Amino acid sequence: MNAAVTTELKLIGHWIGGESIRGESGRKGPVFNPATGEQTGEVDFASVQEIDRAVAAAKEAFAGWRAISLSKRADLFFRIYQLFDEHRDDLAKLLTAEHGKVFSDAQGEVQRGLEVIEYVCGVPELLKGDFSEQASTGIDVYSIRQPLGVVAGITPFNFPAMVPMWMWAPAIACGNTFVLKPSEKDPSASIRTAELLQEAGLPDGVFNVIQGDKVAVDRLLEHPDVAAISFVGSTPIARYVYENGTRNGKRVQALGGAKNHMIVLPDADIDMAADAAVSAGYGSAGERCMAVSVVVAVGDAAEPLVEAIKERLPNVKVGDGFDPTSEMGPLVTREHRDKVASYLESGPAQGATLVADGRKTAPEGDGFFLGVSLLDHVKPEMDCYTDEIFGPVLSVVRASSYRDAVDLVNNNPYGNGVALFTRDGGVARQFQFEVNVGMVGINVPIPVPVAYYSFGGWKSSLFGDRHIYGPEGIDFYTRTKAVTSRWPDPATSKVDLGFPQTR
Ligand code: NAD
Repeated sequence: MNAAVTTELKLIGHWIGGESIRGESGRKGPVFNPATGEQTGEVDFASVQEIDRAVAAAKEAFAGWRAISLSKRADLFFRIYQLFDEHRDDLAKLLTAEHGKVFSDAQGEVQRGLEVIEYVCGVPELLKGDFSEQASTGIDVYSIRQPLGVVAGITPFNFPAMVPMWMWAPAIACGNTFVLKPSEKDPSASIRTAELLQEAGLPDGVFNVIQGDKVAVDRLLEHPDVAAISFVGSTPIARYVYENGTRNGKRVQALGGAKNHMIVLPDADIDMAADAAVSAGYGSAGERCMAVSVVVAVGDAAEPLVEAIKERLPNVKVGDGFDPTSEMGPLVTREHRDKVASYLESGPAQGATLVADGRKTAPEGDGFFLGVSLLDHVKPEMDCYTDEIFGPVLSVVRASSYRDAVDLVNNNPYGNGVALFTRDGGVARQFQFEVNVGMVGINVPIPVPVAYYSFGGWKSSLFGDRHIYGPEGIDFYTRTKAVTSRWPDPATSKVDLGFPQTR
């Protein structure tokens, strides 16, 4: 059935050169409250001309911004941290209202983003170069890190505040100016971010937002004044962005989708593993790129583990994210909910056992809900295993040995996150050595690295050579220049046409 349309829609536009701008393209998209199914807003979709305006504003701001001293930039980032900290609940409310995640989870999202802002408050330390005195007689060599220019970020629906923070905070701290193209499904957090940055004192034009779809992305990919693109989203679009951006001479990091496994060995603490599987499988309704999607139960772990997970499922409270008792909210759109639910048809049809059917336990009403769902006896050729479901459907694959479990993970095309549950330190060490995945948890189900490490997967979960935020984020948003310098010394000066050599 069609969702009701509220009479007063929130209108969400762009943010260019320090001003909130209504779009003029005439193209728009709906924004929903996923918990009620109601349309609550309308977001403008940018035209090529509007994107060009945003890039021009960022370009104009670049010369002034890159000249701001490191100590002033650090001061500003301390103010930004403070302001975002004060407004963390305002931001979190926008996330729950448009994404649907429960409010405590939305607060957690803002917190993890704030940690990246905190990290870049140390930008003077992060941008230090190297210096070699007397590399040759009377000659010093040193390297400096400089910003790239205008950089763009294209972000997914599932972390509308945090993933942009992963990008704009290091990019701007490094002296770049920024154009954000957020997800069209939950665009309000991007505009609130722009307002807070302006209030903190960031000069106009340093941070810009253009709302939109493929038109916006394609223009950013080809725009001659965009030096680099950070993308986070699904694998097909990540590959597209990487291929087209690099073909146009841009530096690109494009983080894609995932299929994260959690291997449970027979010696693991089964209760701890079951708690972890339920938390990491259904948190944020499974709409996290680090969600556990497949539990690989090894040998004798399988029966007690499936039983322990099953026991916990009726206690997971699914409901409106603003209800403080809710632990899991709705999915982001009706179409996505229906797609996720389709695996509860195809899984059993292909031989899996449906242990818990979330269609039967979803809250009533027009919200985009699906209850927690569990498929057992899943095999690697089934669609519920090969596809990134991105919803509250956990699959259990039974493996006969540690070796089979690791081979399963290493043969999977994705390589974002993985976890191993065991009490055996030797096996854990072997696992971290041989698993082909970018982020590994040992008895930790969602191993999102802290802000001073970097986040990124391997294989089809990342295109490009730099992970995001942390030290690799600083590398991504800067280029180094090596300077070889000599000061006039009349005592050593002479004409010498030979090739410069170290002396
Ligand atoms: P998506 O790929 O559909 O969209 C991401 C961005 O690309 C959005 O801004 C969207 O407007 C734009 N886009 C969509 N279709 C496009 C097209 N045809 N051409 C150009 N641009 C297009 O992803 P999503 O559904 O918003 O987010 C969920 C996906 O993101 C999942 O696959 C998830 O695993 C992934 N994700 C990955 C990470 C990570 O760190 N690896 C983090 C979060 C989400």
